[in-house]
Amino acid sequence: MTDTIAYPAAYPAPKDWILGIHAYVPGKAAADDGRPLVKLSANENPLGTSQAARDAFMTAAADMATYPDPAAAKLREAIGAKHGLDPARIIYGTGSDELLHLAASGYAGPGDEILYVRYGFAVYDIAARRVGATPVIAPDKDYATDVDALLAAVTERTKVVFLANPNNPTGTMTSRAEIARLHAGLRPDILFVLDQAYAEYLDEDEDDGGLALARDASNVFVTRTFSKIYGLAAERIGWGYGSPEVIDILHRIRAPFNVTTVGQAAAIAAIGDDDWVARSRTHNNQWREWLAGEVASLSNHGLRAIPSKTNFLLILFEGKLTAEAAMKGLWDEGFATRWLPGQGLPNGLRITIGTEEQTRAVAAKLRAMAEAA
Ligand code: PMP
Repeated sequence: MTDTIAYPAAYPAPKDWILGIHAYVPGKAAADDGRPLVKLSANENPLGTSQAARDAFMTAAADMATYPDPAAAKLREAIGAKHGLDPARIIYGTGSDELLHLAASGYAGPGDEILYVRYGFAVYDIAARRVGATPVIAPDKDYATDVDALLAAVTERTKVVFLANPNNPTGTMTSRAEIARLHAGLRPDILFVLDQAYAEYLDEDEDDGGLALARDASNVFVTRTFSKIYGLAAERIGWGYGSPEVIDILHRIRAPFNVTTVGQAAAIAAIGDDDWVARSRTHNNQWREWLAGEVASLSNHGLRAIPSKTNFLLILFEGKLTAEAAMKGLWDEGFATRWLPGQGLPNGLRITIGTEEQTRAVAAKLRAMAEAA
């Protein structure tokens, strides 16, 4: 958007580096002609929100006139109890997005570098540029994180390393051993931000060890969100865990009342509803693997799904059917998906795992389009 506005020579003059930012493009909920679509473009929970969380939200909504608890004390206690963490070392944000920005703001500025892997989460570029730091992109290894490439890209100026695990938009997972190796290779004065927005979709034995690493190391900050498996994307609640020093720095710069009363109440209830989370995970993982199998059966038409540990699949179109045509064809079936030319993936379409009916319909349309192309 900013690209299309001509700024006059005189003021108010934005910072140069802000002009280098391309605003985040949210997942679509409508076709180009405005037709509303089922949103498989933002990795939300297709099952919705747990009843317990909805009830807690409604009860908390009775009080709208007073500010929310600025310390989010009960929320931190609930998160701490769930994960065995010291609540004093937990911070909360308006979505985990805010926490990513806080990490960049607290530790990097003009002249510094912020490092992440190619096809990393789109907000890392914005977070780096927003503070005037230089984004540095390390090459991937077949769409997954290449720890050696990341370590090779570290310079004296590197201040922050962002890594989403599992990653969006690729869905790929970096193993616990590789995360430990990456951390061991980083200087202690570099903040390692491990973004675990999709961690709740993993089985226990797939844990990347990030929270344990952050418990013991002073330079690791782990972020999580209530927007994905907990079905609370509308409430904008994220949380982060790190050393007392990191948490102190980030508290200094977060917005004063950055998580709402209803959001805090809903999140506390959501984190206590284990059945809902388990049901959401089971549903997701079953239909993700089913859809991956369908895509694999279209490999002779040039379709390939990157192995995913998240609630979405990145499908590459390397045959006659293009990702753009597939996206448009899916509009006709009523589905919004995420085409990714802006993230260097013009042949990639990211599709959130929906309900069974939605997933079957998506697969059927992909098959029809691939076979007709
Ligand atoms: N990290 C990753 C990897 C994500 O995919 C997202 C959401 N798309 C976020 C962070 C931010 O999520 P939220 O602000 O809703 O917590």
